[in-house]
Amino acid sequence: MMRLQNYIGGELVAPRGGRTLDNIEPATGEVYGSIPDSDAADVADAVAAAKAAYPGWSRMPASERSALMLRVAEIIDARCDELARAESKDNGKPVALARAVDIPRAAANFRFFATAILHVSSESHSTDTRAINITMRQPFGVAGLISPWNLPLYLFTWKIAPALAAGNTAVAKPSELTPATAFLLAEICREAGLPPGVLNIVHGLGAKAGAAIVEHPDVTAISFTGGTQTGAAIARTAAPMFKKLSLELGGKNPNIVFADADLDEALRTSKRAAFSNQGQICLCGSRLFVERAVYDEFVERFVAATRQIVIGDPQDERTEHGALVSAAHRDKVCGYIDLARQEGGTLRCGGQRPKGLPERVAGGYFVEPTVLTDLDVQCRVNQEEIFGPVVTITPFDDERQVIAHANSVPYGLAASVWTRDISRAHRVARDLQSGTVWVNCWMLRDLRVPFGGVKQSGVGREGGLEALRFFTEPKNVCIATPEL
Ligand code: NAD
Repeated sequence: MMRLQNYIGGELVAPRGGRTLDNIEPATGEVYGSIPDSDAADVADAVAAAKAAYPGWSRMPASERSALMLRVAEIIDARCDELARAESKDNGKPVALARAVDIPRAAANFRFFATAILHVSSESHSTDTRAINITMRQPFGVAGLISPWNLPLYLFTWKIAPALAAGNTAVAKPSELTPATAFLLAEICREAGLPPGVLNIVHGLGAKAGAAIVEHPDVTAISFTGGTQTGAAIARTAAPMFKKLSLELGGKNPNIVFADADLDEALRTSKRAAFSNQGQICLCGSRLFVERAVYDEFVERFVAATRQIVIGDPQDERTEHGALVSAAHRDKVCGYIDLARQEGGTLRCGGQRPKGLPERVAGGYFVEPTVLTDLDVQCRVNQEEIFGPVVTITPFDDERQVIAHANSVPYGLAASVWTRDISRAHRVARDLQSGTVWVNCWMLRDLRVPFGGVKQSGVGREGGLEALRFFTEPKNVCIATPEL
């Protein structure tokens, strides 16, 4: 049994109340460890530790903060295999995916912000000959960081790294469904020599430990990634306390294939966009729109390719498609597949629990990659976030129509457009209501670019300088320059 602990003031500690939650392996459905069921008292300890560490950390020369964070990145890289196995076991994702994407990107997050902070400059403005305004960006104190289960270490560090690089200290909570790599990160921070209290990690339920972070008066800013409803609840608490808020929420992303596209590449990448991480990436292209001239061919080839996806034990190196994160989430996804039938959809492939799974994972939360067609653009399956291995394919006749279809959902996180016509790519990208538009690619990330959504996909932007802006406050010092 793996017994996880909180990381508070540099120590690994049990929750004050002594209560724990089961940690379940989604691929087997079995309990394999326990995590602290923390409450407001644990959060109060963590905030106190973060407050105590703040003066030292915020005044430490940026080069020293940077060196400590680079050491964290180095250790993540060195322990990549162990972290990938832990994340795969915790989350149900294929170990090969965790090793190739999640863990290297977590190290990259630390490396990117550790070096970015060395290049930040302040601004100054001369006010005629009367004054010089110096605008500094300063850290603000304790940041509250709350992350989801789908890309556990990657999204956790995507918040921690800029918060710490900017000179803040933090209280962070991973999802209670996937706590293992956050626990290992605590060990790594200790090994790297991060001063006690700079980063504090509190495990537990969202409504208890998470809510206590949001409610704590000494937590100045909240950076949250998760569901839209949770984001709304957090905003209701944080707004009247005038906390700084960054909310990265749900998506229902369109993936638009025009007839002039490189169809081989569009097919290959659209399959990845639909089913990577069992469709549990906020950026997954879950609504495919294909121009009518190539629709039949595309659907046929897409379904054939989907049937080739290797489903199996996530810990097996050959597995491409693992388990969903929990029984409740599996049931939600299957509920949408049933709803699709009621809404008149045609099930082209998948929709079942896979057959012939290895004995070890016979009790796991698996759902086959599923392709649906013939659904109305306005139906619930096409409007609501499913966040699983379910993609719908809809034909379209022209550019205007597909833009209207794409924009018809309440979300606006990411979109892909496949075409060889550069003018069309520009027009469509301009008109899509989306924080990111990929043209002839998907999930190609550059850590310098702003990342986030519009509409119900959130407010604020993460990534690069936007993140450093969020985690600092501008302060203007106006110095009079009287004529001598
Ligand atoms: P969730 O909202 O259920 O939980 C996210 C985190 O918030 C967890 O750590 C949870 O414990 C905590 N939480 C829950 N209730 C809380 C409360 N009342 N106060 C404070 N914290 C609380 O989301 P999830 O199911 O873990 O993640 C899936 C969702 O995340 C999907 O909607 C997905 O689209 C979204 N997501 C968005 C992005 C993005 O960048 N926009 C990235 C990944 C996932």
